[in-house]
Amino acid sequence: MIEATAPYEIRGASSQISLDIVKVKRVHFGIIRFMLSITAQVRDQMTRHAQQGVPNEACGLFAGEKGVETVKTFFPMQNAAESEIIYQLDPKEFIQVEQKADRLGMQILGVMHSHTASEAYPSETDVRDANQFDPFGIWYYLIVSLKDEDPVIRAFRIHETNINEVEIEIK
Ligand SMILES: [Zn+2]
Repeated sequence: MIEATAPYEIRGASSQISLDIVKVKRVHFGIIRFMLSITAQVRDQMTRHAQQGVPNEACGLFAGEKGVETVKTFFPMQNAAESEIIYQLDPKEFIQVEQKADRLGMQILGVMHSHTASEAYPSETDVRDANQFDPFGIWYYLIVSLKDEDPVIRAFRIHETNINEVEIEIK
C-alpha cells in the first residue's frame, strides 16, 4: 500500500509547486492580484443596495482612483433584467456611470451583483457573461449573498473557465 500511494503524493506536491509558480508569475506581471481593498462605506452601500433590490438581483459598478486598486466609489445601478436569477447592466446607464467615474478621475474596477438565495460564488451564467464582457479577465466580480442572515461579500476574477477568488480587505 505504501508503494502505491507514494508516487501520487509526489505528483500532487510537484503540481502544487508549479501552480504556485504560475500564480507568482501572474502577480509579478500584474495580471492577477489576489487582494482587493474596499472601504467600509462602499461595503455598506453594496449590501444595502442588494437588500433594497430584493426579490430581484441588484447590480452596480465600482471604481477606484486611477492606478490604485482600492474601491472607493460604488455606483448602484438598475438590474435591466429585473430578475431574481440574473442581472443585466443597462448599456445607457453603463455609459453614464463610466463618464461619471471619468470626471471623478476614477477607473471602473469591476461589477457587483447580488445573489438573493444562493452563495456568493459565480454561477455558470456569471462566468459566461464575464467571458463575453471581459475576455481578458481584468475586472473584479463582487458578489453579495443574502442567503444567510448576515450578507456575505466575496470577490473573484474570472478568466475563461478559471474562477480565482480575491481576498477582500476592508479599509
Ligand atoms: Zn450571479
